[in-house]
Amino acid sequence: MKQQLQLLARLQEIDLHIDRHEGNLARLPLEVQEIARSLVVLRREMGEAREKLAATEKDLRRKEQDMAVEQEKIKRSERRLLAIKNQKEYNALSREIKLGKKLVGDLEEVILTAMTEMDNLNKFLERREGEYAASEESLNEKKAEAERTSKDAEEALSSLKRERVALVHDIDDHVMKRYTTIKRARGNAVAEMANGSCSGCNMAVPPQMTIQVLKQEECLECPNCHRILYVRPENVPELNRLQA
Ligand SMILES: [Zn+2]
Repeated sequence: MKQQLQLLARLQEIDLHIDRHEGNLARLPLEVQEIARSLVVLRREMGEAREKLAATEKDLRRKEQDMAVEQEKIKRSERRLLAIKNQKEYNALSREIKLGKKLVGDLEEVILTAMTEMDNLNKFLERREGEYAASEESLNEKKAEAERTSKDAEEALSSLKRERVALVHDIDDHVMKRYTTIKRARGNAVAEMANGSCSGCNMAVPPQMTIQVLKQEECLECPNCHRILYVRPENVPELNRLQA
């Protein structure tokens, strides 16, 4: 049984490596996809902002033209005003000039608002372009990492799985069955007993059981988490102290 327990401990190490590699193989493509998706979102946002910028600019130019026309009209009216002798005509034209100036004032405000909006859009675009460049870079890095990791993981997995087959061959069927059942329920099936405690759940193992575990004559489970308890060979001399 002592040898069986050591084999189980080694099997668990191998299984942890296998799980880690398989986790990486599954995780990295998802991360790559996520970055690719964020790039699509950024591209769409930038496209929308550019369209809005173009529309705002077009509107701004139109308003600037309207304002120039209005200012020209005011100038002409002001020149005409100097030549008018009739009071009624003078008043009418003065009113027209006043209205024109109000219109120019309104246009100026609209133009200022549009300029501020363009400014904000340009700043937004600049930020998004920066984010896009950074995302693109991290996408390339992740892709390279995914390729490297996949290659490494596949190599490691094939050698780990070879070693696993050899180990399982030497483990008794009923022990293996318990290992598999506990692993499925707990994530890992074997826990080292160190300083009288189960390293799986950190609970103290009852003293009588501690001795039995140290003897390594049976396949014993932690009474609390039901993981199979084993001791590292270098910790076994503890037994001599306990029996003394
Ligand atoms: Zn435990």
